[in-house]
Amino acid sequence: MNVTDLLNSVPTGLWLHGASAPSESGRTFDVINPATGETLMPVANATPADATAALDAASAVAEEWAATAPRVRAEILRAAFDAVTARADDFALLMTLEMGKILPESRGEVAYGAEFLRWFSEEAVRIGGRTATAPAGTGEIAVVKEPVGPCLAITPWNFPLAMGTRKIGPALAAGCTMIVKPAEDTPLTMLLLARVFADVGLPPGVLSVLPTLDAPTVVGRLMDDARLRKVSFTGSTGVGKILLARAANNVLRTSMELGGSAPFLVFDDADLDKAVDGAMLAKMRNGGEACTAANRILVQNGVREAFTARLTERVAAMRVGPGWEAESAIGPIINARQRGSIAALVDEAVAAGATVRTGGSQVDGAGFFYEPTVIDGLPDGARIRREEIFGPVAAIVGFDTEEEAVALANDTEYGLAAYFFTENVGRAQRLARRLQAGMVGVNRGVISDPAAPFGGIKQSGLGSEGGSEGIEEYLNTKYIALPPG
Ligand code: ADP
Repeated sequence: MNVTDLLNSVPTGLWLHGASAPSESGRTFDVINPATGETLMPVANATPADATAALDAASAVAEEWAATAPRVRAEILRAAFDAVTARADDFALLMTLEMGKILPESRGEVAYGAEFLRWFSEEAVRIGGRTATAPAGTGEIAVVKEPVGPCLAITPWNFPLAMGTRKIGPALAAGCTMIVKPAEDTPLTMLLLARVFADVGLPPGVLSVLPTLDAPTVVGRLMDDARLRKVSFTGSTGVGKILLARAANNVLRTSMELGGSAPFLVFDDADLDKAVDGAMLAKMRNGGEACTAANRILVQNGVREAFTARLTERVAAMRVGPGWEAESAIGPIINARQRGSIAALVDEAVAAGATVRTGGSQVDGAGFFYEPTVIDGLPDGARIRREEIFGPVAAIVGFDTEEEAVALANDTEYGLAAYFFTENVGRAQRLARRLQAGMVGVNRGVISDPAAPFGGIKQSGLGSEGGSEGIEEYLNTKYIALPPG
């Protein structure tokens, strides 16, 4: 499909009652192509009244959807997996256009994102419970699982498809209805997904999509309505804290996938080929715009210079350009504000004495490009050593001992992902336990898998997405006390 036909196939309205609809205000906002700075297309801009309409719909069908046979829910999810997979090229191009990542990475996200639909179609028919005889013999204990009810998903712009399917898949499998508030930078992918779901037979009202420039009031309206029972959020820790406080009003169930500051440890006994390959993936995949991205690359001093030189050579060879061009190895940053925050972190570090090994500047001209960068010699207090970079900047710090490495790695309020490279089995076992993170990669630069639980500890979040754990986030546990049998 060419770009015009593709954009014409994306709903321009809110997705409500199984169809595209204008906002009650008639307002729209423009979605921008970050590689050019130009408008791709306008979409409807939801208001709080639109949010209430979506929740009316989600509540009206909640009971019926919860009572739908698990096999029927499973087959709708499986059909959605097939439909997304059949349109993989369209979804990939759409993500490249609205988010900027290079096409091979967009294709990778389509495969990964669609897999949540297949995985949870398989989980839908395996929701279990348990029974037991009361120890005193006074009765039977029956434990059943029930859908939590209407849910709100708030998604970020960095993985426009997968961050949606990772929430929609388990919610629909569990029998919940869902309203998605996609990131304002990338609403198109979620709107196209909603249309695909309608095409494969998802009943109207079960899934709604509300693009908006006014996230706080739209989300606030939904969270203060007692009919909403759950909010699942992926985004920054700062916004997550606001949402957790708001969730207290109605004691909502919450799942929080928040920021990270993943340490990436390379030991003297590492296989440097693997470590450099791993760093390229953990740091440069998705332009570094991932909460699991290697934020602090900690390298033992015996191999620091060798590792840094090899990584620098690889990073310097990356061609920056629009994601749809075959020669591009890295696309633009999502927007000017985000690029500015990356540039500020690098500029401050350099002013304080850090050394730029390659890159270090934004690219002039149209679009929001930033050179892939390697810096080292970072002073102790540099902000870049504490804050989430969320861009293609590899910040390298040396260490001498394993103790020092663990202390540096854990010295953060975050606890999402951690990576380490060593060929020493004993060290690997120690580190896997000692690193304070919800996910640990051993000699691997990519860890996400729909069949594994994704989630953080400390200020990186609450709950798990994916795996057999993921569906639990959308289920309540009910105890039914029965008389003795
Ligand atoms: P990022 O830094 O990646 O943009 P954010 O946490 O700001 O991460 O955004 C993630 C999602 O949260 C987006 O969909 C955004 O619109 C939404 N969001 C941002 N601020 C708020 C807020 N105050 N209330 C509700 N949603 C918000």
